[in-house]
Amino acid sequence: MTELTPMMKQYLTIKEQHPDTILFFRLGDFYEMFFNDAEVASKALEITLTARDSGSGQKTPMCGVPYHAAESYIARLIDKGFRVAICEQVEDPRTAKGIVKREVTRIITPGTVTESSMLDETRYNFLIGIVRDDLGYGVAVAEVSTGYFAMTEITGPMALSRLLDEISRLKPVECILPDELKENKEIQAKLSAFRGLSLNYFLRKSFSSGVSYNALLEHFGTCSLEGFGCEGIQLGIRAAGGVLAFLKETQKKALTHINKIVPYTTDFYMLLDNATRRNLELTQTIRDGQKKGSLLWVVDHTVTAMGARLLKLWLEQPLLDIATISERLDAVEELASNAIIRSDLRKLLDRVYDLERLAGRIAYGSANARDLIALKGSLEVMPQVCDLLRDAYSPGLARIQETLDSMDDVVSLIRDSIHEEPPLSVRDGNIIKTGFSPDVDKLRTASREGKQWIASLEAQEKERTGIKSLKVGFNKVFGYYIEVTRSNLAMVPVEYTRKQTLANAERYITPQLKEYENLIMGAEDRVTQLEYDLFCEIREKINREVRRIQKCASLIAALDVYRSHAEAAVRNNYTKPVVTDGDVLEIKEGRHPVVEKMLSDEPFVPNDTYLDGSGYRLDIITGPNMAGKSTYMREVALICLMAQTGLFVPAEYAKIGIVDRIFTRVGASDDLATGQSTFMVEMNEVANILNNATSKSLVILDEIGRGTSTFDGLSIAWAVAEYILDTGKIGAKTLFATHYHELTELAEIFPGVQNHSIAVREKGEDIIFLRKIVPGGADRSYGIQVARLAGLPGEVLTRAREILATLETTEDLAKGQREAAAGRKKHARVDERRQLSIFEEPENINPAIEEIKKLDILNLTPIDALNLLYKLHLKLREE
Ligand code: ATP
Repeated sequence: MTELTPMMKQYLTIKEQHPDTILFFRLGDFYEMFFNDAEVASKALEITLTARDSGSGQKTPMCGVPYHAAESYIARLIDKGFRVAICEQVEDPRTAKGIVKREVTRIITPGTVTESSMLDETRYNFLIGIVRDDLGYGVAVAEVSTGYFAMTEITGPMALSRLLDEISRLKPVECILPDELKENKEIQAKLSAFRGLSLNYFLRKSFSSGVSYNALLEHFGTCSLEGFGCEGIQLGIRAAGGVLAFLKETQKKALTHINKIVPYTTDFYMLLDNATRRNLELTQTIRDGQKKGSLLWVVDHTVTAMGARLLKLWLEQPLLDIATISERLDAVEELASNAIIRSDLRKLLDRVYDLERLAGRIAYGSANARDLIALKGSLEVMPQVCDLLRDAYSPGLARIQETLDSMDDVVSLIRDSIHEEPPLSVRDGNIIKTGFSPDVDKLRTASREGKQWIASLEAQEKERTGIKSLKVGFNKVFGYYIEVTRSNLAMVPVEYTRKQTLANAERYITPQLKEYENLIMGAEDRVTQLEYDLFCEIREKINREVRRIQKCASLIAALDVYRSHAEAAVRNNYTKPVVTDGDVLEIKEGRHPVVEKMLSDEPFVPNDTYLDGSGYRLDIITGPNMAGKSTYMREVALICLMAQTGLFVPAEYAKIGIVDRIFTRVGASDDLATGQSTFMVEMNEVANILNNATSKSLVILDEIGRGTSTFDGLSIAWAVAEYILDTGKIGAKTLFATHYHELTELAEIFPGVQNHSIAVREKGEDIIFLRKIVPGGADRSYGIQVARLAGLPGEVLTRAREILATLETTEDLAKGQREAAAGRKKHARVDERRQLSIFEEPENINPAIEEIKKLDILNLTPIDALNLLYKLHLKLREE
């Protein structure tokens, strides 16, 4: 260090304190990075890597970005998973003695971003903190850009799995853990599986009981957490204290906009595991992760950023409390019934900016004058909103009308002080309105008069000297000057002092010109500084009202979502559901909200559903491939979910007994990331259902057991159905689609089981899908017909038909035997030897037959079987 330049020493001292970050070191108009940071950042940002002499005689790798464009570079680094420490010059270089003092003023991590250019305005940017003890987990949730702060505890059985469900609901971008959990490989692996979640460790001490509790009291300025309802929530307090300490450490700000902490319990919400959220495509599609094709795409008619974020959140957390659901539904009903209010409201809300994040930027001290104008414009709408809702009768809307604060004081403060179209930067002046500050006005007058004198100088000097081409101009280097072309140089008066020579002109100054210049410059410098100071004062004054802005933002967000729900209901012909605490789930003429929007060639065929906790618990749904089984089952799940979030539903009538969880086991996919096979993924999901479903749950099973051999699959499917059906074990309302037609026998054995199938009509070789759910089981899957639609070669289809015929004969035999053996009771045990005798025929010396005999059919997947069939077919044809 001794040989290094003083600046390099300063750099290294600061860098040593921030080893896990890329250090943006402010040097004049640039942020520079050195050593390893420079190498890493130049690659990540695709900027040139240079070198600088650090004083040690060795070249130090270096790269830099201009400070005014830093935001986009920081955004890219954060996006790539880095943390960025901003190190500023904290004293004026002109007055500094020796090396300019520098300090890290903020550390930016994915969860502490507040810049609007780095945030997606349609989603919250949650940062969570997690602590663990023998009882379970404490979770704190913070949204730095808006000031949202909440805590919960997840304890008791299956705490880890419920914690993971909560994480998949929140979709946080960053998770802070006490550093002792660095050693916990299980938690680490589980959390790492969440895409886009950055894990950070922070001092365990900050998460300890006493320290965290005191940190919260100090921050909120209270003597207990009683007023927030958080007292005694031990694990939640530890997590919240840790998160707060992390935010203070990285943001180095008072964080005044985080002015309350909300306790919540996951019991408020319908629990949805990660797989179910994905399968139901609530906010994005499984196939390409796009909004288009998701439920959100169909129902999102919000016009404000806060509304868009809240709607997304509501879809991810359906409620369990009938009173709250009804309040939402009633508000939606009122707006759905009044097209004029709906349309006027849309126009008004369209003028409201992102109040939540504006409030955050005001508290952060990063709001500029344009932000204040946006705040004013948004708040100006409030009296009109209140007026529009003056006759509101639904409790939800009436409450908004009563509590919405138009914040006239803030509006008039901004109106009186800030120009309507201020510049982006708050340091360039032109912010403060005339009449607001006598000092600003005086300085402006001085500057204006000086400029007027200079403007008149040109005419005056032309006249006096007789030089017609004489011009008065200004440039940044020489200031004001008088320019005379070469041909007129002889006429230049003696008192002109030459300052600059150009190709065909000379530039001069005069003492008087310089005097006025000093006056103008001095006044401009002073007014710019004064305007900045005044602006900061105004911003700080508004900051004291930030709680009111936040309250206003949350009411407007809810109003926007009600309006959006009403719009969705009217546009899509949805109905208000009847929500009860009973067990009946009854849907008349239900439709799939997304599929009905996607169909262009055929109309969507609506279907009925009836399930309850007793005689209609388990519905076995059979029917051809492509008939619409999955669509139907998802539609039922989505209708329940929509009703419980306060949305109207796509049906003629719907009575929804509150559902505590929806489980879906749909489709099959490998999870290569965690090294799990298709079958393993499927079985994990089934295990999750069997371990967690209750009699209040809705379970959607789409063809379980498909990923293994037929008889294993059938046996598992049968046993799972029995287990779910058993009221002593689960007794959940269940829709079970299957191609194992054997499962329809369950209805004959157990009360509570119904069979339904999806009707098709055969027309020669073809089938026509009628899409209608009818009572009774289907006897065929028509897989070969559907394969034909998909374009399988004719030969394969012909051969498949032959084989099917053989299999069906054998299958009938097997079924007969099974039924005889089981006496039509419980399990139908499968005689595995039967399976091997499928192709049993008199001795045949054909090698293909020999090959078949050697097969381990039980371990063949259907796709392998089809491939093999194709190979054998070719072989036989060749002979
Ligand atoms: P498989 O058994 O092969 O998985 P499936 O029975 O689950 O098939 P779906 O995937 O639900 O069939 O439906 C196939 C297609 O049929 C859907 O993509 C949709 O286009 C159409 N469809 C489904 N239900 C309806 C309906 N009620 N009205 C109109 N079209 C429908």
